[in-house]
Amino acid sequence: MGFRKVDQIELRGKRVFIRVDFNVPLNEKNEITDDTRIVSSLPTIKFVCEAGGKVILASHLGRPKGKRDPKYSLAPVAAKLSRLLGKGALLAPDCIGDEVEKQIEKMKEGEVLLLENLRFHPEEEKNDESFSKALASLCDVYLNDAFGAAHRAHASTEGMTRYLKTVACGFLMMKEIESLEKALVQPQTPYVAILGGAKVSDKIGVIKNLMDKVTTILIGGGMAYTFLKAKGYHVGKSLVEEDQIGLSKKLLEEAKGKIKFLLPTDHVAAQKMDVEAKREIVSNDKIPEGWICLDIGPETIKVFSEEILSAKTIFWNGPMGVFEMEPFSHGTFAIARAIAKSSAFSIVGGGDSVAAVNQAGVGDKIGHISTGGGASLELIEGKKLPGIEALRRNGGEIG
Ligand code: AMP
Repeated sequence: MGFRKVDQIELRGKRVFIRVDFNVPLNEKNEITDDTRIVSSLPTIKFVCEAGGKVILASHLGRPKGKRDPKYSLAPVAAKLSRLLGKGALLAPDCIGDEVEKQIEKMKEGEVLLLENLRFHPEEEKNDESFSKALASLCDVYLNDAFGAAHRAHASTEGMTRYLKTVACGFLMMKEIESLEKALVQPQTPYVAILGGAKVSDKIGVIKNLMDKVTTILIGGGMAYTFLKAKGYHVGKSLVEEDQIGLSKKLLEEAKGKIKFLLPTDHVAAQKMDVEAKREIVSNDKIPEGWICLDIGPETIKVFSEEILSAKTIFWNGPMGVFEMEPFSHGTFAIARAIAKSSAFSIVGGGDSVAAVNQAGVGDKIGHISTGGGASLELIEGKKLPGIEALRRNGGEIG
């Protein structure tokens, strides 16, 4: 595949820059509410430490919009990481500059330094050349373990690899690529893609690209209502993107005779988006005026589950309803359970779907749970991801 792995390179005494994805959710007290992303990168970090590398970790956190903002400091991550590693992970005052360089100079083999949020510099997202060079100058070896950021051509995911000879994949990145490529290169059919979530505009490109690759597309969540409206149904106050109706009609036409393209046939409709609101199970032609559909109904669950159970490859991204509210969570959990029951090779990506699979207690029955929502979608679509191409480009060279 043209990738070099972390265990194929000389690390002893080297300054090893690891681009990780520490973009963890924080509450209002700046406490980490889910440390999955930190835990997932531990195998690579520990491996480099044990191999005698000097570990320089870099990540973005939130959207500080190119300005230093204490709200988006990686300080809570440094504390959590120290606890998980069982040794101190020092936080640098910045991600480039004299201070950081001095700190790196003093590092000993096996020590860990976490650079401050890359996005405090607007140059990171602009993939700026001199910023990329400044990052590259901090290290001898570059590793990328941030699959969740691989669809972005930023300085730390793409730019800096141009100025380094030794570039390789971390264990997490490698596992993501290998698992997702299973669904890309000669996937076993029937291949069922399940797409949900709020907006059709976010996923219209994905749907179009997937049509050439899959046998069946199942649509749920808020995005289903733009399609149903495009088919002429009255959908009450359900989520509809009026400006996407034309495109949705085109997609429905394109799908005809090519693939199975299934929309929900019944719904959990409510008078308003509230757990206390009056609700009813309704079919497509009986959605009450002024009501809002917030989950797929039992008939849809049955039809979708049958498709899932007969699949050999499954890809799922996006909840089937407002699963954060119990009365509207049943569709999403039923789909999670159906995927777990199927003998197909399954991939689940995207924060909400991954949370649903874990909450349903079936995480261990999924072929691959991806840490990258957007990145896994783009890879499945057949797009080239800049962060991965950068690793491929450099894969053959030995620095
Ligand atoms: P996305 O980020 O596009 O994957 O969308 C996820 C969000 O879609 C979740 O927060 C869900 O609550 C929301 N969602 C799912 N189904 C619906 C629906 N029928 N109406 C409104 N929002 C929905």
